[in-house]
Amino acid sequence: MAFEGLAGRLQETFNKLRKKGKVTEEDVNQTMREVRLALLEADVNFKVVKDFIARVKERAVGQEVLKSLTPGQQVIKVVNEELTELMGGKQSKLEMAPKPPTIILMVGLQGAGKTTHAGKLAKYLLKQNKKPLLIAADVYRPAAIKQLQVLGEQLNVPVFSMGNEVSPVDIVQKGLEYAKQEHRDVVLIDTAGRLHIDETLMNELIQIRDVANPTETLLVVDAMTGQDAVNVAKSFNETLGLTGIILTKLDGDTRGGAAISVKAVTGCPIKFVGMGEKLDLLEPFHPDRMASRILGMGDVLTLIEKAQANIDAQKAKELEQKIRKAELTFDDFLAQLEQLKKMGPLDEVLGMLPGMNKAKGLKDLKVDDKQLTRVEAIIKSMTKEEKLHPEILNASRRRRIAKGSGTTIQDVNRLIKQFEDMKKMMKQLTGMTKKGKGRKGKG
Ligand code: GDP
Repeated sequence: MAFEGLAGRLQETFNKLRKKGKVTEEDVNQTMREVRLALLEADVNFKVVKDFIARVKERAVGQEVLKSLTPGQQVIKVVNEELTELMGGKQSKLEMAPKPPTIILMVGLQGAGKTTHAGKLAKYLLKQNKKPLLIAADVYRPAAIKQLQVLGEQLNVPVFSMGNEVSPVDIVQKGLEYAKQEHRDVVLIDTAGRLHIDETLMNELIQIRDVANPTETLLVVDAMTGQDAVNVAKSFNETLGLTGIILTKLDGDTRGGAAISVKAVTGCPIKFVGMGEKLDLLEPFHPDRMASRILGMGDVLTLIEKAQANIDAQKAKELEQKIRKAELTFDDFLAQLEQLKKMGPLDEVLGMLPGMNKAKGLKDLKVDDKQLTRVEAIIKSMTKEEKLHPEILNASRRRRIAKGSGTTIQDVNRLIKQFEDMKKMMKQLTGMTKKGKGRKGKG
């Protein structure tokens, strides 16, 4: 799990602080000593830690903090804000060229995840209704071209390649002409990496950059390499001028030093993080959300833990299969409500799920016993056919169910809406539970 050690240590430190009614300057100093150690252990760059601690201290010993009603809380707030700032403050989005095609040059060392992330970005762009083209310009790594072609096929995105006998500069030149001809609006160029930074590699990338004139030059770098990742970013930025960073394998990075320090050291923002090998495991990087994750201030991670602790693993698995096969029934829905009830107040649980504000129907669903009895009554008034195929629930069927269960048609309508929302939510939830388990295994 990402940031496992750091999050644990910081939470422990802050719990001590939270308990104090009155906070003195010495308390702040003690807390900051612990934060400093935790950051260093997480492999955050030494100078970054020093500056960070100085900034937090300066703000935290201020009168308005120490004299406030909740001084402990205020100190944590300052840490949260400064941590967010350290990682870039606001989200840095993918830049689009004013006139298409947008050209994205992907660079980085071998094995960092360039090819995989070219595929992930293509998928991400497809979802935004873009028409990406992948250019296979990694002519050195055996099988890199094939790997990109396989990804292209999976995604139904064209891949431009000329084999590995042609120079990458020529491939890029021809590929860009092809993109214009085919009206592709975003071009992703997968380039070759080496095991270490060397001059030949850099010179070649400079040539490619000059031919491609990219909108984005993204460095793909492996988070698990910690400070090395930061140094790689520094060199690439000095030679090529990066516009952003894709930090990969954050799913396996238990320390998190690179994520925290790379922006401060290089000035380059992290634009995306890779959270696994699968093509949909790409997340836009939000410094504020990452900061809350690190500080353990409720977030998806908390939710995963709750789900893992409370949802019966076997049942969750069966449910997941049903969802995948789109077989979720009203009986499952009822069982699910009972499971959710165990996870805590429903609104709190939902609050931790990203995108759940969209599921309005679930917001006013109270999972108390009274409500459950009502839901049960409505579901029991359905025929087997209706439970299996909710789509057949037309107006007359809904009226009959309301009558049979002693409820109103509005109650029935609401329940059907909630069922649909629940389907969506469980899809997210089971996905996350699985991810969370994978991470724990690695970390
Ligand atoms: P390239 O040499 O830079 O093109 O690297 P590849 O795209 O071939 O990736 C190298 C290895 O890292 C492959 O086994 C990928 O499946 C794996 N990989 C890439 N991104 C991630 C990630 O975000 N998380 C994890 N766990 N593995 C990744």
